[in-house]
Amino acid sequence: MSAVLEAIETKKRGGELAEGIIREVVAGYTDGSVPDYQMSALLMAIFIEGMNYPETLALTRAMAESGETYAFPDCVDKHSTGGVGDKVSLTSLPVAAACGAPVAKLSGRGLGTTGGTIDKLESIPGFSVHLPERRFRRQVAEVGLAIVEAGNLAPADKAIYALRDTTGTVDSLPLIGSSIVSKKAATGAGHLLYDVKQGSGAFMKTPEEARELARLLVRLSESMGIRATALITNMDTPLGAAIGNALEVREGVRFLKGETVPKDLAQEAGLVAARLLELNGGETPHESVEKALSSGAAYEKLERFARAQGADPDALENLPTSGKVREVPAPREGHVTSLAALAVGRAALALGAGRKKKTDKIDPAAGVELLAKPGDRVARGDPVARLHGERGAEQAEKLILEAIEISDEPPPPAPAILDDL
Ligand code: URA
Repeated sequence: MSAVLEAIETKKRGGELAEGIIREVVAGYTDGSVPDYQMSALLMAIFIEGMNYPETLALTRAMAESGETYAFPDCVDKHSTGGVGDKVSLTSLPVAAACGAPVAKLSGRGLGTTGGTIDKLESIPGFSVHLPERRFRRQVAEVGLAIVEAGNLAPADKAIYALRDTTGTVDSLPLIGSSIVSKKAATGAGHLLYDVKQGSGAFMKTPEEARELARLLVRLSESMGIRATALITNMDTPLGAAIGNALEVREGVRFLKGETVPKDLAQEAGLVAARLLELNGGETPHESVEKALSSGAAYEKLERFARAQGADPDALENLPTSGKVREVPAPREGHVTSLAALAVGRAALALGAGRKKKTDKIDPAAGVELLAKPGDRVARGDPVARLHGERGAEQAEKLILEAIEISDEPPPPAPAILDDL
């Protein structure tokens, strides 16, 4: 009996898969010798019967070792499970680097309503997300911050994830946990923070699901030799005010210059930076973060990083803007009580800020600027959002009006940080 058939027979009866079988199946699926129909059957059996911790760890290892691997044991890294307006990498990592925690990051592009750091960085004129490995390593040593597009990392995960996407097997905790940690382990940072988003605009909708995933990510990472911690953060509402690539970079620049940005963004970016410093052995992380922001060191780090990766001089002051901007008026007066992240993400997508499928071309200047957030009071006709982009403005306006709820009573306060593991 082939390894994959043995795995299907074992798992469909709720049995445990041995590490050797998992490795054979993962290697076979990556080299094409295991066909999609058998892998689909196994994934569905795993989806229904689950996997215990040793099986999940074995799958993580097998996928992590299926392609190129890097080692940056002194570096810090962060991973977000994905959200709308999530510019925490752009904001927290220059702060951490300015405080002496080096960052070597391999990032991805956005898909659907979830943005990607690589697309955001590419909206900076001249910025290159491709560096030869030697130059990448030199930049980490000299600048303390380098971010490039992930190439052939964990190819087994890439193939399995694409199959899960078309076979209804994405939302399985052991499959999600092993998928995320395999890529982070291949990236090789020694210290890692997971930002698990929870809420209507996130993968994890409930506190229980988010906590379970956060615990699994930390446990798997520690088993792979990475010092890890996790935060659970709110994704009922987009983070900050900007959704869209250049708009998000502009908001990140404001934060790093110490200018006023929405409280949720300032709190989350500051806390992530502080946690990364703590993981790296920093003794006064919160004070260091404050100092890096108020002294200008964090913004200088961003400028140096952007220049090292080819950005034009003054690129951060000359980010692309859209020729077409329109405002969405509030349909009534009152307190904004909610602003559904998923619908705002769809509005940005309609404007051209993201891709519906991998091959779509994005408009770096497109997106949504929120002019009111939950808790703000608005009069009827006040602009609540600005839509930037040449395409889809009518659909985007409809989506913003669907996303916003305005009531007579103010909403209860909604914390940005929901849990800290
Ligand atoms: N993100 C990943 O990288 N993998 C999953 O399975 C889900 C989200």
